[in-house]
Amino acid sequence: MYEACIGLEVHIELDTFSKAFCSCPVKYKSEINSCVCPVCMGLPGAMPVLNKKAVEYAIRLGLALNCSINRTSYHARKNYFYPDLPKGYQISQGENSICINGFIEIEGRKIRINRIHIEEDAGKLIHEKDRTLIDFNRAGVPLLEIVTEPDLKSSEEAKIFLETIRNTAISLGISQCRMERGQMRCDVNVSVRKKGEQALNERCEMKNINSFSAALRSIERETERQIEIIENGGSIRRETRKWDDANQKSVLLRSKEEVGDYRYFTEPDLPPVVIADEWLQKIKQEMPEPYLSKVRRYEEDYDLSKYDATTVASDVKLSSLLDEAVGCGADAKMVTNLLLSFVMRIVNEKEMETSNIPFNGESLAELSALISKNEISYTAAGVVIEQMFESKLSPSEIVLLKGLGQISDKAFLEETARKVISENEKSVSDYKKGKTNALGYLVGQCMRKTGGKANPALVKAILEKLLEVET
Ligand code: ADP
Ligand code: MG
Ligand code: ZN
Repeated sequence: MYEACIGLEVHIELDTFSKAFCSCPVKYKSEINSCVCPVCMGLPGAMPVLNKKAVEYAIRLGLALNCSINRTSYHARKNYFYPDLPKGYQISQGENSICINGFIEIEGRKIRINRIHIEEDAGKLIHEKDRTLIDFNRAGVPLLEIVTEPDLKSSEEAKIFLETIRNTAISLGISQCRMERGQMRCDVNVSVRKKGEQALNERCEMKNINSFSAALRSIERETERQIEIIENGGSIRRETRKWDDANQKSVLLRSKEEVGDYRYFTEPDLPPVVIADEWLQKIKQEMPEPYLSKVRRYEEDYDLSKYDATTVASDVKLSSLLDEAVGCGADAKMVTNLLLSFVMRIVNEKEMETSNIPFNGESLAELSALISKNEISYTAAGVVIEQMFESKLSPSEIVLLKGLGQISDKAFLEETARKVISENEKSVSDYKKGKTNALGYLVGQCMRKTGGKANPALVKAILEKLLEVET
């Protein structure tokens, strides 16, 4: 039996106002070559100046991924030639990266982070029929590269890892990580070995994968490819391969002999990055809560299921609504249910971004109080939420306006229950035969007849009593 050893190099584009080493703006979709200057176009003699925000964002991510923050780090020139890199080198970091030796826990396993470093993005080549054009808007945009140790064991683990990195970066407000915009890309390194072996075998690398699904498929196919070679008596050579997602296979780009020697050396135009105590403290204190600690807090303090905790924590707006509602005294589980059922259903129907949800956590707290005080039914809360998307009225105002107050009038509910019993002979006889779920159906029918306004607990008690008398 074989196992895969997978190491990822994840690039995320930072959501800074300006580029890594010049003051050109970082703007998605602006006119071609409109955000450029001598520095990011690599003109000779232009001097780079490091963007402080990019350093702060790197530190935020490093802290969230349990890294040590290198108090003095250096930039390095990574030398290679490519048309979208007119300087002939990329400013990156080498041995002395800003964040080192971190880890995150995934499904109870530690995945070690070797380092996180700052580097600049290259320009974009636009291939036309008989010529290639170049857009330098992206050149010099700050990237963080997160390099893992080869600790991941499967494509599923890699998927959770990538999702965790994305959710973490978004929660920290440092990147939007939209893969479809190229704001998150990864290189996938795969080797295989017999289960139980300690030593790593030779690996292949697939570069610049830009969707989660392509990353997962490339891992699966590459693992299979290597196992097959070994089973047939062959051996794996160090290669850089290109993943062809359309044809679901990788093709050879470069073999080991050609693997780049980038001749890293310290960037002479930039001073060392020295991080002062006070600044590090300030960053720690002011940074938003990282995704993984939110998940833990929701499981431990709010008693949410793992699924609910990760779902809410992975969305900045949903988690701020939840925290705000709980801060106003609401029950966390109740608010989570409202968010994940009613609110998200409407968000999906309207195909809107959660950031545009038009109400706050205080309103959700008010709504959940109405439910827990039995003033409205849970079903009616769904109607209230629909209205909260359409108007600025408060939940109580909507309840009054729409007449959604819960019906606890026993005589009226008994009449409704009798009607439902007479109209649903099959369920009644099922119930009497001991099928207890039939009762739920009958309660549901009463709710329907009252437009969701009946008090469900009362309806249930009344139905039970009536059905008992009848037998
Ligand atoms: P390089 O300098 O050639 O890019 P690194 O040591 O920086 O090599 O590793 C790059 C990535 O490759 C890391 O994510 C690392 O975990 C992964 N990697 C290194 N060796 C192996 C291996 N034998 N099998 C799988 N992945 C590996
Ligand atoms: Mg590498
Ligand atoms: Zn510039």
